[in-house]
Amino acid sequence: MTYVALSLGSNLGDRAQNISKMECLLKKIIREPVKRSSLMETEPLGVAEKQPWYYNRIITGNYEGSALALLDNLESLERELGRKHKGLLKSRTADLDLLLFGDAQIKTERLTIPHRGILQRRFVLEGLNQIDPDRKLPLKGKTVKWFFEHMDEEVKSQRINFIQN
Ligand code: ADP
Ligand code: MG
Repeated sequence: MTYVALSLGSNLGDRAQNISKMECLLKKIIREPVKRSSLMETEPLGVAEKQPWYYNRIITGNYEGSALALLDNLESLERELGRKHKGLLKSRTADLDLLLFGDAQIKTERLTIPHRGILQRRFVLEGLNQIDPDRKLPLKGKTVKWFFEHMDEEVKSQRINFIQN
């Protein structure tokens, strides 16, 4: 079993419901102990056209299998939830990203682990810091809490609303 951290996102349709559907489907894939961050509404980043804000949640748990097998699973869940196209920075009903896979460092065409946005997205650091602050990242050997406390000013300025749920 490998420790995994996932990012769930949706900015089309009923965003809260899309996130709960993702969590429900993930129950079949991710093993206990599963931890969930609060639900966050976040401003789209680096997009040219105007896009609705995202709902995001961070989840950690365990997975039995390889990182690529997990990516395949995540992509079929995205399709099941009606995601039409791949493509960076496009609106989507369901975006499931693999943030961490144990201590693995992977750089292939299909997969970059740790996810390239892990230190660049405030909601990722906020969410991970809520549920796993003492986890060491395979980056400089520092903890989630350390990266959270040393967030770049630009990252800190990204706008987030914490949703009651
Ligand atoms: P976004 O970067 O906004 O999540 P997409 O969901 O459309 O964009 O993903 C684009 C590509 O990113 C996918 O084809 C996938 O193979 C690749 N990718 C690379 N690393 C990862 C990762 N850690 N988790 C999810 N997708 C990844
Ligand atoms: Mg994605």
